[in-house]
Amino acid sequence: MDLHNLLKKYENCECGQIHSCNVKDVRVGSGLIKEVGNILKENSFPKDLLLVSDKTVFAACGEITDSLKDFNVTTYIYDFLRVATMDDVEFIESLIKGKNIGVLAVGTGSIDDTCRLAAARQNKPLCLFGTAPSMDGFASDTAPIVKNNFKTSYKAKSPEVIIGDTKILAAAPVELKRAGFGDMIAKYVALIDWQASNLISGEKYCERVASLTRFAADNVFEKADLVTAKDEETAGKIFEGLLYTGIAMSFTGTSRPASGTEHIISHYIECKQLLDGITPNYHGEDVGVATLLVLRLYNSLLSLEKITGKKDDTDWKEVEEVYGDLKEDMIKLNAPDTITDGIDPRAIEENFDKIKEIIRSVPSYDQVKEAMEKAGCKLTYEDIGKSERLMREAFLYHTYMRRRLSLLRLLYLTDFKEKLKTFPLK
Ligand SMILES: [Zn+2]
Ligand SMILES: [Zn+2]
Repeated sequence: MDLHNLLKKYENCECGQIHSCNVKDVRVGSGLIKEVGNILKENSFPKDLLLVSDKTVFAACGEITDSLKDFNVTTYIYDFLRVATMDDVEFIESLIKGKNIGVLAVGTGSIDDTCRLAAARQNKPLCLFGTAPSMDGFASDTAPIVKNNFKTSYKAKSPEVIIGDTKILAAAPVELKRAGFGDMIAKYVALIDWQASNLISGEKYCERVASLTRFAADNVFEKADLVTAKDEETAGKIFEGLLYTGIAMSFTGTSRPASGTEHIISHYIECKQLLDGITPNYHGEDVGVATLLVLRLYNSLLSLEKITGKKDDTDWKEVEEVYGDLKEDMIKLNAPDTITDGIDPRAIEENFDKIKEIIRSVPSYDQVKEAMEKAGCKLTYEDIGKSERLMREAFLYHTYMRRRLSLLRLLYLTDFKEKLKTFPLK
């Protein structure tokens, strides 16, 4: 991956937005675990280094310390870290505060998120050594952290350096690779939602950033049948795809290019389950299932001749009830107005052919389902252990927990809204 060239290509974009990214160096290749020390030196990391990992990952990547002989390494190894909490972040901060030290996160997901926020708050250089191609947060500058049972996305920092050793990525557990596939396939819904919002509300959209997401998603999509194989090339491709979409997100300063209504559905489920003390599934598993559901919904619009716009008749009392303990946060996101208030429902009616074109511009539900089957992904809410009730609730109400317009939310301003209540969930 030639990061330097990529960043150059996005200078002076005609959309007018400055597309910047704090990642300075990305290396993806076979056997890079032996090169970590050299890569850190080339990137002027301080001599003192805090290595953070968890037991399972570190058992598979212990070799990494051989390459760090010229560094004074302190290691902190978690037993297990599925959910990153603010306590974890503060603890890592206490290990680096006031020192001239760099942070090396060895792992994926929560290990990265914890280090991303701790290093940002203490202003320390950060390197992520990714060990599984399982989600697209590597290059991101935000970190989802749980505080008092609520998961919030905090402004953190993008790592200066990202390293992926394809040998290790290919040997990652199959569930993690499938989850990465699910997170990448979601980009097709994200692209529909972004363009539909741009069409109807005029939200800023950059064709070139969208094409970066598209390129990354297509690359992974084509590799569906190899996802579960211990194939270095595929694992490297998926990892790079996940990096590209992360970079696309930092280019726009939002998650818009890589996350659509399917991510909000999955976030809703996760928040509700956290309240019940349930450990969430792998992010990409839930996201993949939500993607299929939303694509099936969007594809079903293609057979409609027309759609009729109507005023949004959201019953806010009902929404508040459904949100329960999450009510306060939801209300804040919908006050003083909700995202659809400025939209004339007739615009959806008049642009319906264009909306259908947007839907047709990405692979169809059948194609995506077939690819997910090949990749061994979970496909239904039952596969990911959710009840029909929770899935219906997430499907119908998730949209109020983010101030972001999706095509699904636009359907609330049409005569199709009623049909959502009975739309088959599988
Ligand atoms: Zn642009
Ligand atoms: Zn994601």
